[in-house]
Amino acid sequence: MKEINMVLKSEVENPLIEPIPFHVERLKTSFSEGTTRDIHWRISQLVQLKKMLQEKESKFLEALSLDLHKGEQEAWVAEIGFVISDINHTVKHLVKWCRPRYVTTPLFAQPGKSYSLPEPLGTVMIIGAWNYPFQLVLAPLVAAIAAGNCVVIKPSEVAEHSARLLAELIPLYLDTDCYHVVLGAVEETQVLLQQNVDHIFYTGGEAVAKIILKAAADYLIPVTLELGGKSPCIVDTDTNLDVTSSRIVWSKWMNAGQTCVAPDYLLVEERFVGSLIETLIAKIERFYGANPMESQDYGRIINLRHFDRLARYLEGQNVVYGGHVNREKKYLSPTIILAPDDQSLVMQEEVFGPILVVLPIKNKVDAIRVINSKPKPLALYLYTNDKSFEQHVLQRTSSGNVGVNDGMMFMANANLPFGGVGESGMGSYHGKTGFDTFSHLKTVMKRSFLLDVALRYPPFNRFKLNVLKKLL
Ligand code: NAD
Repeated sequence: MKEINMVLKSEVENPLIEPIPFHVERLKTSFSEGTTRDIHWRISQLVQLKKMLQEKESKFLEALSLDLHKGEQEAWVAEIGFVISDINHTVKHLVKWCRPRYVTTPLFAQPGKSYSLPEPLGTVMIIGAWNYPFQLVLAPLVAAIAAGNCVVIKPSEVAEHSARLLAELIPLYLDTDCYHVVLGAVEETQVLLQQNVDHIFYTGGEAVAKIILKAAADYLIPVTLELGGKSPCIVDTDTNLDVTSSRIVWSKWMNAGQTCVAPDYLLVEERFVGSLIETLIAKIERFYGANPMESQDYGRIINLRHFDRLARYLEGQNVVYGGHVNREKKYLSPTIILAPDDQSLVMQEEVFGPILVVLPIKNKVDAIRVINSKPKPLALYLYTNDKSFEQHVLQRTSSGNVGVNDGMMFMANANLPFGGVGESGMGSYHGKTGFDTFSHLKTVMKRSFLLDVALRYPPFNRFKLNVLKKLL
């Protein structure tokens, strides 16, 4: 087989790598045999996926606790419940999404019909990240199944218990000729990237995204990149301080800040900094207690590499709250840093952990200048009662998503596309947008044999051209 020849000899010695080309070939065969074409068959697979989440709920919760110390409610809402709700929404609307999408036909093409017809892409690949190890693999999987694709899934090896659980359970619930999980890390992903699949859906960091994009270029594979970056949060003095603080603390310290759309830094007018920080601290202590290490609801850093990275961000900074660390337990308490230098590590890199930066600004319009001086973020948050300022921010900034007066709630609305822009990613998904991402919208124009006007046929003359100029 062509693909097997491409696997280097040394890679063949890795037992996880050797079978990869065979598995992908099996999926491609199933796709070409038309297994996934039937819409009701796709729905049955989605129902099976939901059954897996419901029947094995305790196993999913256990894996999340082992990998990230996720509390039960947070884990259920952000991973299990999120995907179940996505499946329900998709099953409800799938027949409608698959229908031809009719558009008007111009006069010169009458009588005729014009429409686009969603068709599956083929065999697609989903590469997941570790911070929401189930949601980030299963939500794109729902969309890919719905659109009628075969799927090879590569969960992140970094959340190892979650990855192993997916590899164990997915074959028990889904058709193994159409869906396959590959475990492993860099080597395995590199081999997967050589399998000439029909779409790559990648969630993760920017550096690896470039590797994926370069590999995809060799085969002209279309790519969706769900990346991250520093998500700013403007807090206006004209806001409901109590609710604002609750929502910032909820969205920042969920999963110990290891969320791609967590607020990374706050932009706050100098005169408001003191009262905001005071209220944030009160909320942190109300949510997680005076010692969050004892809270069942407060997460841990995924591994020591990330723990050490985060600990470095604290060096030499004005830590106004928290900063308590326990390396052995991979614990970093909710931490607030005030006014770091723009050239500091914590301002140059995405925090992706439980450290919140507060940047004082002279006036609120200055926030826009700060945001626009950095790469386009995945999310931008704004807390304000001032509607004209809200419009000003919306019109003068660019970001993948915007949350006005709440943190990351937009993720929970399946009717909204989710994705980045610029360095925070390309392409989007969730709900129908996810279905479209994993579909090709095939253009169809059907003409009637009646009324075959000769204007377009040679030999051409001035009269024909003049009539065409009026018609087009
Ligand atoms: P990660 O380390 O889990 O890597 C992501 C995937 O890339 C894994 O499956 C991994 O095996 C693979 N990979 C790693 N190195 C590779 C290589 N050299 N070649 C091929 N594949 C390789 O995740 P990460 O990169 O630490 O993820 C964190 C980043 O992801 C953050 O920037 C975060 O904001 C972003 N993120 C974005 C979203 C989103 O939905 N937009 C969601 C979660 C995380």
